[in-house]
Amino acid sequence: MRPRAAHLALLLAVCLLAAAAGAQQVTVIDAKGRTTVLTSLRFEDHPYLPLSGLTGPWEAAGTWSELEGRAEVKMPGRSLTLSADNTFCQIDGKSYNLYYPVRLYQGELWAPMELFTRYLIPLWGRTISYDEKTRRLSLGGLPAGAPPPQAAAKGSGAIEHRAIRKVVVDPGHGGKDPGAVGPTGLKEKDVNLEVGLRLKAILEDMGLLVVMTRDDDTFVPLSGRTALANREAADIFISIHCNAAPRKKRARASMRGSETYFLSLAKTDDARAAAALENAAIQFEQPDNKTKNMDEVQFILWDMVQNQYLTESSDLAEYVQEALGSSLPFPSRGVNQAGFYVLNGAYMPAILVESAFISHKDEEALLKKSDTRRKIAQAVAKGLANFARRHQMKLGGE
Ligand SMILES: [Zn+2]
Repeated sequence: MRPRAAHLALLLAVCLLAAAAGAQQVTVIDAKGRTTVLTSLRFEDHPYLPLSGLTGPWEAAGTWSELEGRAEVKMPGRSLTLSADNTFCQIDGKSYNLYYPVRLYQGELWAPMELFTRYLIPLWGRTISYDEKTRRLSLGGLPAGAPPPQAAAKGSGAIEHRAIRKVVVDPGHGGKDPGAVGPTGLKEKDVNLEVGLRLKAILEDMGLLVVMTRDDDTFVPLSGRTALANREAADIFISIHCNAAPRKKRARASMRGSETYFLSLAKTDDARAAAALENAAIQFEQPDNKTKNMDEVQFILWDMVQNQYLTESSDLAEYVQEALGSSLPFPSRGVNQAGFYVLNGAYMPAILVESAFISHKDEEALLKKSDTRRKIAQAVAKGLANFARRHQMKLGGE
């Protein structure tokens, strides 16, 4: 028995070493500017941080339940619960999916970096940040006793007076993914890019900061687009696309017009078709991409996270669609809702604009013109300005 047990222990040790390869130093900076250097480990090629190293900089009270394999971190007005081998965590009493499980390793609970980049930074505010290049994680400035952001958002009118400073403009498709292609060969990715770049220029003139998910003909994975928006702590996410009629549809040649979407479960067959079309971009992504494995449950969870911005998203969609309908020759198909991957996981009002049907020959002809592309960009900017006015949100500035 003994040699076999030793053999097993050795095997286990080798496995653990292999699993937790690639140790790196991460500098954690607390609210008072003090730094602690933590060792970050990689599990299945994803970086993790030890939870115990974080409670100090946060000046938080941590409790650990051996029996349940669960850790709770409590600060005034904030809470975080992590469970070993579980991809779900609780932040301020709400459940979120980390995609990567929390790990119990060498008597420590290890949290995937996603916890910070995907959740804590957008949920707990801009004072938490992570710089991938320098590997510096700043945990400073959590306002003691401040109510969590969700509670503030639900308070009377609190959300009404937020400012809009930073907008992410997302020209759909790009690189190896052409998007939809028109009857004479016009590629959606090219239309989207020019509209996006023009929109950027207009928004910058309005005093806004604009971050582009791409500013040339390169391929950007769908999940990377909202991840960028969250990392940048943007206030608004606008995805620019052109629609195309489904191949099998009888009325294919006659489908036309502009429409604006916000994220939700699809309500109509046409909405489902538009979402399926845009989501098909996933086929161009790496086969091991996490988004590909996004199942229904995870989708609904994302949907819930986005839910707190649902009213604003649908409202923004209304204003943008109104501007598109009144300033372009494309008939307005109105505002619609569907499950677009690219809008998933955006912690901000997020919309997807289908400016026209590239599959319709007249609309394709118009989409070829720079003047049309300029008008689309102007309409989207006008819609955003009207939305901001309606919600008494300041546009641009500090
Ligand atoms: Zn598209």
